[in-house]
Amino acid sequence: MAKEYLNYIAGEWVPADSGEWFENRNPAHWDELVGLFPKSGTAEVDRAVAAAKEAWKTWRLVPAPERGAILKTAGDIMVERKEEIATLMTREMGKVLTETRGDTQEGIDTFYYAAVEGRRLFSHTAPSEMRNKMNMSFRIPIGVAGLITPWNFPMAIPCWKSLPALVCGNTVVFKPASDTPATATVLVEILLEAGIPPGVINIVHGGGGVVGNRIVNHPDVSLISFTGSSEIGKQINSLAGADLKRVSLELGGKNAQIVMDDADLDLALEGVLWGAFGTTGQRCTATSRLILHEKIHDKFVKMLVKAADKLVVGDGLDEKNKVGPCINEGQRNIVDEYVQIGKAEGAKLRCGGEPSTEGKNSEGWFYKPTVFTGVTPKMRIFKEEIFGPVLSVIKVKDFDDAVKVHNDCLYGLSSSIYTRDVNNSFRAIRDLEAGITYVNGPTIGAECHMPFGGVKQTGNGHREGGWPVYEFYSEIKTVYVDYSGQLQRAQIDNY
Ligand code: NAD
Ligand code: MN
Repeated sequence: MAKEYLNYIAGEWVPADSGEWFENRNPAHWDELVGLFPKSGTAEVDRAVAAAKEAWKTWRLVPAPERGAILKTAGDIMVERKEEIATLMTREMGKVLTETRGDTQEGIDTFYYAAVEGRRLFSHTAPSEMRNKMNMSFRIPIGVAGLITPWNFPMAIPCWKSLPALVCGNTVVFKPASDTPATATVLVEILLEAGIPPGVINIVHGGGGVVGNRIVNHPDVSLISFTGSSEIGKQINSLAGADLKRVSLELGGKNAQIVMDDADLDLALEGVLWGAFGTTGQRCTATSRLILHEKIHDKFVKMLVKAADKLVVGDGLDEKNKVGPCINEGQRNIVDEYVQIGKAEGAKLRCGGEPSTEGKNSEGWFYKPTVFTGVTPKMRIFKEEIFGPVLSVIKVKDFDDAVKVHNDCLYGLSSSIYTRDVNNSFRAIRDLEAGITYVNGPTIGAECHMPFGGVKQTGNGHREGGWPVYEFYSEIKTVYVDYSGQLQRAQIDNY
């Protein structure tokens, strides 16, 4: 019998009202059931929101440094549980242990950053234009935060959202992706063990269309933070916009690495292998386009195909494997459909291009690292997010051509250039349309204390991580104190 996980609502661990469950399976061995989770409806969300609204009345008054101290304790607990969490995450999500350890570490880093932010939450003061009057501003809590997360970073993304939300004095209703609900539940357990009061955090498991949708349209949820596809992000934005909610959206990407003719090719190769095939290409920041200068194109493609073919695909719990499975059968089918589309569009398949089914890989949703060359900007494999281990290679004439091809894209999350030319490096920093640019590094590698997010259809202008996320989770209160003992009319009495 698989473990039955529960919702945490209003201070109690509870099953769904319906008594129904959904399965969480291991994408490397589909017959392995990781756990059963409550298939919740809208009534569970309503109770979670009511509890969060009630708990906010007291949580908002807890000094921010005290809220931060709880997060410090929680971070310490996560350090103790890091290996256990990484193993659970690999089982429910598939990516290799090195990466699930990294995902958990990003959670830990975010805990410690948020803990200290409890002593900052800076705001501005400014002089008054009047005498004997003082002007200042404070960051104040907003209310109930609705958090909706995807499956590809099961610990890091929930931490990016919930920890700033909590330290800023908000209460939380959290719905994790239904492919990775176990890691999310461990996060809630840790927060509670560290001393987050009942009602301040609530987790409701279930489908996006039911549970997620109710969080978005509930009148008592004041802000929504969503990471996921651009398609769902747009729906959420319209729905939440109708109620004037504050909304942060982190959406799709179609990120490119540029390799110039003066680059260190071995370094660029290591970068693209990690960027394109790490997490089986299922990162919002994955490298899915490789833009090569024509002078090094043929040589680099040869190096790339040889190396991609050698990447060992298999169960992420076995440390000899470098590339885990796709998250589920549907996602592997999408990857394979795009490979067929690429072939039909006239791109040249250089390696991979089919499921990996040797030995035990037949038990899961594995796909071979795939490289297409001869890709043009008109092709769908150049334009559309695939979210799998498929890399499209495009040849360009020079730097300007590379920038133009790079920017011919609906999305703008991460970008990368490999070059030894200092002038082209800085031009790239200025001209690549993306929220993130790496110089001589792959498109992946975010650090929790730096802003994370993208331009164009990747988002709606907010950032996670770093200092800006604390601005998203708080409102500004502006305060004027007049100690002149008289009515002083600004703009009037001083002119
Ligand atoms: P998804 O959009 O299908 O689902 C994301 C979450 O939204 C899940 O929890 C889902 O249950 C929920 N959801 C689905 N329909 C909903 C609805 N109508 N209302 C409210 N919630 C709903 O995305 P996914 O497949 O889980 O993740 C992959 C996508 O996420 C990719 O497009 C990827 O680029 C993107 N992503 C972006 C970032 C980023 O920071 N930019 C990070 C990771 C993933
Ligand atoms: Mn799973």
